[in-house]
Amino acid sequence: MPELPELVVMQEVLTDRVVDRTIVAVNVLHPGILKTVDPALESLVGKSFRTISRRAKHLIFTAADDLHLVVHLMVTGRLILCQSDRRATKATGCLITFDDGEDLRIVENTNIHQVRVHVVRDPSHVETVDKAGVEPLSSDFTSDYLAQHARGRRRQLKKLLTDQTIIAGIGTAYADEILFDAKLSPIRYGPTLDEGEVRRLYDSIGSVLRWATDEVRSGAGGATLTPHKREFLHIYKKTELPCPRCGTKIAEIRYALTKTNYCPSCQTKGKSIRDRRAWLEE
Ligand SMILES: [Zn+2]
Repeated sequence: MPELPELVVMQEVLTDRVVDRTIVAVNVLHPGILKTVDPALESLVGKSFRTISRRAKHLIFTAADDLHLVVHLMVTGRLILCQSDRRATKATGCLITFDDGEDLRIVENTNIHQVRVHVVRDPSHVETVDKAGVEPLSSDFTSDYLAQHARGRRRQLKKLLTDQTIIAGIGTAYADEILFDAKLSPIRYGPTLDEGEVRRLYDSIGSVLRWATDEVRSGAGGATLTPHKREFLHIYKKTELPCPRCGTKIAEIRYALTKTNYCPSCQTKGKSIRDRRAWLEE
């Protein structure tokens, strides 16, 4: 799933390649991908996207002040730019055709279609945009804000970091990287953090997201929208590989559909979190 670093780079690439091109056709091939009916998707025809922005895990294509296409790629959605005469595959959910013979396509290579597309007069009409928490790379995100939310409610740090209503744009991959960087256990409860630990977590959120955005940007080379390889990550999906800091084998916790990676030496005082019930339901 694309998270903040990937989406920042997608926004940059799309701004470069899609803005100001006239839309001549729009087509939906996966019924259900479009979550709104008014304004109609067809109202984009004849217009062009003036800006492309990002809020939380949404990309917002703004055609006019009161016309926005809001896309959430969820877990498996991708955006591709290709020649309009290329045949749409079964994976193609939505096509936006420009007057110069190129399409922007939303594709999803799974049977379960989760991508969400909205056409709205105001992006805040999309509930998950409206309820999105603070952007972690904005000046509104302060260590006081983090402390207040970490201490305000008894919840584990991974859940705190991935709660989109508190901090926007962090998913399971970057939450694992941030907690590794901060040397904190994913199952620590927020209220147990002392002032220094909150500060460390705050600093890691900023530094990991900035570093990852630079890595994704240099991997993308300004030209691609395909899922970026995340080989640069230290810990996420590196189960059993040596921790880059101390050499201990990286461990994993599975819970429901998510996996969490951590280093038992760097993050949990040498203890393995074997019991997945360690993830307590809230
Ligand atoms: Zn380690």
